[in-house]
Amino acid sequence: MLVVMRMEATASQVEAVVEAIEASGLKAHPIPGAQRTAIGITGNLGVVEPTRIESLPGVLEVLQVSHPYKLVSREFRAADTIVEVGGVAIGGPDLVLIAGPCSVESYERTLGIARRVKAAGARLLRGGAFKPRTSPYSFQGLGREGLEILARVRDEVGLPVVTEALDIDVIDEVAEHADMVQIGARNMQNYTLLKRAGRCGRPVLLKRGMYATLTELLLAAEYILDQGNGQVVLCERGIRTFADHSRNTLDVALIPAVERISHLPIIADPSHAAGRRDKVLPLSLAAVAAGADGLMIEVHDAPEAALSDGLQALLPERFEELVAEVRALAAVLGREVAAYARHA
Ligand code: PEP
Ligand code: MN
Repeated sequence: MLVVMRMEATASQVEAVVEAIEASGLKAHPIPGAQRTAIGITGNLGVVEPTRIESLPGVLEVLQVSHPYKLVSREFRAADTIVEVGGVAIGGPDLVLIAGPCSVESYERTLGIARRVKAAGARLLRGGAFKPRTSPYSFQGLGREGLEILARVRDEVGLPVVTEALDIDVIDEVAEHADMVQIGARNMQNYTLLKRAGRCGRPVLLKRGMYATLTELLLAAEYILDQGNGQVVLCERGIRTFADHSRNTLDVALIPAVERISHLPIIADPSHAAGRRDKVLPLSLAAVAAGADGLMIEVHDAPEAALSDGLQALLPERFEELVAEVRALAAVLGREVAAYARHA
């Protein structure tokens, strides 16, 4: 529910409405606007009596927000959210490229790949330290050592890093070492983890579950925002369909759908959608054409020897070519690929 205050409402009237909401055991989120203040209400809305709030001085109307999500919606916040990750803005006019290996394998290899992707135009480094693998016998990631490697490479190369927090046991350590915390597709509905991500003190990259609807994705983000963390970037990474020509199906239509109803930035991960490197470029272009705020691409200097997802990893030189094509397409769309800050 959203309480819209009258234009002439005073600060003390706004405060009285906030108090009335909180007295019912709900959370009030005042949103000062240029002309008037609105107050979002979250919590168990069953206990709110709209007519009681509507009768308070200074209240214009109480809107029943029809969607089950609120904080993530454009009704709640019209302006695009810009998520700031170590000085890089995601969700503004510029496209942001995130690139790196699927898994952190060693310091030297991560450093080498980071240098190459930075030179090609990536603004953030990705790399998994804790890996969600289908088989328990597959490489599970270097764990804490991987986090330390990422932090060292970030300091050496000057690219902020994003890495996955697989569970609540490691999320604080991930937040300590990384600039952005990734919640993976398999954890999109791990509500305990989402709540912790909302309190982790870092921006969050929330990947769409492979069976999740748009509403479920937005409600997952809502968990994070409801804990006070508005710095969330959504990521379309492909969903399960009957198609057997690609690992997953990149749901390009999700991108404009999110942009219409949510202020949160949305990027695409064509690598996990494609599963094969030859499809990464066309899917990247499709996502950018559809309005994505950025791309996350897996890059490896020896894909045949990669410890995970080698089939979909691009060689650094192929990534350079991809960046050139993305730049050309972005220009047609009146956008640019984010450039380095001069000091970086
Ligand atoms: C990843 O980004 O390395 C990853 C495991 O992605 P997803 O959660 O989308 O499968
Ligand atoms: Mn991967």
